[in-house]
Amino acid sequence: MEIKIFKDVMIKNNAIGEDNRKLFNEQKVLVLNLTSSPGAGKTTLIESTLKLISNKVKAAVIEGDLYTSRDAERLEVFKIPLVQINTEGGCHLDARQIHHSIKELSLNELDILFIENVGNLVCPAEFDLGEHKRVLLYSVTEGDDKPAKYLNMFQAADLILINKIELAELCRIDLEYVEKEIHRINPTAEILRITALDERTLEDWIQWLNKNVQMRERPDESRN
Ligand code: MG
Ligand code: ZN
Repeated sequence: MEIKIFKDVMIKNNAIGEDNRKLFNEQKVLVLNLTSSPGAGKTTLIESTLKLISNKVKAAVIEGDLYTSRDAERLEVFKIPLVQINTEGGCHLDARQIHHSIKELSLNELDILFIENVGNLVCPAEFDLGEHKRVLLYSVTEGDDKPAKYLNMFQAADLILINKIELAELCRIDLEYVEKEIHRINPTAEILRITALDERTLEDWIQWLNKNVQMRERPDESRN
């Protein structure tokens, strides 16, 4: 019985996710679903990214949090559209919440929409929000066993950013091994090494963003 209810929830969620994506496509806005465990650096990454791109591309952020609006407050300095979702204890965002929050945004004016999911390496894997790409942030301080332990999250990601790489040695983390582990579990995932606090390490990430924004804006040219 419980399994059936869960299936129905997923079917409904994914149908709304598809509707969201259709809307994002029509409005030519790239939408990223940022997932990670708590404290992996999602908000820090958004901050550093906005510092680098917010004068060139029009960005907005949807912040998913259990109770607080602390992350959104950190982003207020950028003067971009921000929508806060408080899940009141809920451990993931779902497509319906996104469907409601985008009513507060002028999608046609945006190039990119970041959705910061609730910090959790379990159920966000199951919930399609309508995003184009799922970006998983994985910090070396979490240990090298997480890809194997949280299979679904690592399998559901299009891009995996290994974060806090300057701490790898201190944490006894072999980055080559970590990348091999990720590719064993998700052979098609793109992987980049970053330190979200250090903008000098974000060049490839910014390039990845620009490439994907352009693919949304000129889908015909980017097909070949
Ligand atoms: Mg955060
Ligand atoms: Zn959940």
